[in-house]
Amino acid sequence: MNNSSDDKFYDVIIVGAGIAGSVAAGLLAKKGISVLLAEKDEFSGKTAACGGLFDRSYFDRYARNEDVLEQAIKKNIFHLPWGNVIYDCDQVTVKRRVFDRYLADRAKSAGAKLLNRTKAIDYRVKKPGEVSVVLQDGKTKSEWVVRGKIILFTDGPRSLAFKNPEFARQLKKNYWAYAYAYEVEGVPVGEDEAHIYFAPRLFPWGYGWIFPNKKESNIGVGAILPDRDGGELKQKLFDFIERFPPTANLLKDRPVVDKKGGFIPMWMMSRITDDSQILAGDAAGMVSPLFGAGIDYAVDAAELCVPVIEEALKSGDFSAKTLLKYDRAVKERFGKDLRKQMLIARLIIFSRKFGKLLPVKLLSVSAFGGKYSRWNKIKILFYPLLGIPRSSEKLTAKMDHK
Ligand SMILES: Cc1cc2nc3c(=O)[nH]c(=O)nc-3n(C[C@H](O)[C@H](O)[C@H](O)COP(=O)(O)OP(=O)(O)OC[C@H]3O[C@@H](n4cnc5c(N)ncnc54)[C@H](O)[C@@H]3O)c2cc1C
Repeated sequence: MNNSSDDKFYDVIIVGAGIAGSVAAGLLAKKGISVLLAEKDEFSGKTAACGGLFDRSYFDRYARNEDVLEQAIKKNIFHLPWGNVIYDCDQVTVKRRVFDRYLADRAKSAGAKLLNRTKAIDYRVKKPGEVSVVLQDGKTKSEWVVRGKIILFTDGPRSLAFKNPEFARQLKKNYWAYAYAYEVEGVPVGEDEAHIYFAPRLFPWGYGWIFPNKKESNIGVGAILPDRDGGELKQKLFDFIERFPPTANLLKDRPVVDKKGGFIPMWMMSRITDDSQILAGDAAGMVSPLFGAGIDYAVDAAELCVPVIEEALKSGDFSAKTLLKYDRAVKERFGKDLRKQMLIARLIIFSRKFGKLLPVKLLSVSAFGGKYSRWNKIKILFYPLLGIPRSSEKLTAKMDHK
């Protein structure tokens, strides 16, 4: 390789200025730590495929700004084969090309060196505290090397960190799901309602959504990789827009203004640190395997890695053993919960072998069970033999049975 070298030495080299990378970069830079934030795209979020729905509290912490907010979401409406379950919520929708760019600019203002159109293509850990990353200019393809003490991988579901066998061995069969997110104009749904569709007719294990934005709505489908290139899933998206009655009535013939697709990791890795290496967000598989949501976890992980990096910089100890504190902090904050979700997801995926409706039944009982009495949970499992399950209390009035 014909590499030139960047003279500057950074405390932390961050690969990927998505949500996890930019939040961490901003927090570290604010503490006076020297940070290089490398982003492969022309600007952050340019190619991010996402529904853009997440909790309001996370938005408020880092992007309380009306120009970044699309809609305030107050209701999640889960459409199930036997009726709807409605949850009150406090969420927002954003466009990732706006949100991610805002976070990256914020990190830059805090003092991080942001390099857009710069892809990390290789890295090396000489010893704990001495790392180098090979960067490539997206336009000229020229390569150079930067050096630092620690690398934070926040480069999404297909991380460069998987070059390390310690991380690569944790990738399992069915590690990734795939999802398409489109922006569609003029969809007639309430501006504060997020709609999520579990439709066995379309996806034995997967779902579709309609999330409102100010002008367009974000619509999409996601499923465990039905085939290697996601072609089959594209057909499902077509059906979702054109043929599946509950959604085709809302989506058919409306202008599609943006089309994107991307991978979703299905399992959180059990080891997310090694000598001078830390993984956060999708790079570590921090996504709900039941719902495909990962934005809140990416922010959480960014926040959790900062004190551990700070401590390593102070003590000069970058060994895997010391960085394990981050693994433990993640486990406490949300890792245990994600593991439970992973077990349920495995069971549900396995249940596909026994019928198209069974995965949705199991998901309903495990994820929405609190909304049903014991008798109604049994009704779900035996649906339609015992009649229509009804969700409890005041929500019954909102059930809209098909
Ligand atoms: C279609 C779809 C819909 C989704 N909808 C939702 C949703 O509504 N709500 C929700 O909570 N979650 C959703 N998710 C999941 C969510 O998008 C991710 O969990 C979240 O983006 C993770 O953030 P991250 O910062 O870890 O990674 P990413 O957002 O993937 O960011 C990684 C960044 O690294 C950059 N990068 C990658 N490789 C390199 C490299 N080698 N060098 C330099 N830069 C690099 C990328 O360009 C990107 O900017 C969805 C995912 C998909 C695919």
